Amino acid sequence: MSSVAQRRGVCVVLAAAPGVGKTSVSRALLEMEPSLSLSISATTRARRPGETDGVHYFFRTPEQFDAMAERGEFLEHARFLGRAYGTPRAPVEDALAAGRDVLFDIEWQGHRQMKAILPQDVVGIFLLPPSLPDLEARLRGRGQDSEVEIARRMAAAREEITHWDEFDHVVVNRDFDRTVAEVRAVLH
Ligand code: 5GP
Repeated sequence: MSSVAQRRGVCVVLAAAPGVGKTSVSRALLEMEPSLSLSISATTRARRPGETDGVHYFFRTPEQFDAMAERGEFLEHARFLGRAYGTPRAPVEDALAAGRDVLFDIEWQGHRQMKAILPQDVVGIFLLPPSLPDLEARLRGRGQDSEVEIARRMAAAREEITHWDEFDHVVVNRDFDRTVAEVRAVLH
């Protein structure tokens, strides 16, 4: 190890109910912040149109996912709407040691675990929708999910939102550019 003190990277957890705009905000941040990289999660949920294995997620079977969990390969993992999601440990540890910042698009249970494991390294930001009807309109507008899936996601959103106070920062996503600027300010 070098004797020169090197800045350790920061873990920025961006959590929100699906549809709040988290993915667009993360994409903008990643473009603007060269030292920031996105943690790619593993999941057992089905691939959506336009998603690529190894880019959006590592799509795994429940058996493969459980084997990874048993081998201790996840920093955190949780279930969301009956499917498993987990953060692979090694890329995060390498990035932090090299002084690079990592962005996590994960839900509240994952954030809680990360805070417990890496209390010095994690900053949690919770994105809120301007209102619940607005969120429902956005979910519909994505055109990706069936009505049943939208209803399940709205129920999950109501539950997710009750955890806002576990986060260091809360940002209401009313205006996209403003939200990105606020999240960047937290990172800096
Ligand atoms: P989606 O299926 O819409 O891509 O994601 C559903 C939820 O799972 C989102 O809130 C997303 O942030 C969360 N999620 C994605 N990857 C992970 C992960 O590795 N760990 C945890 N705890 N949540 C995740």
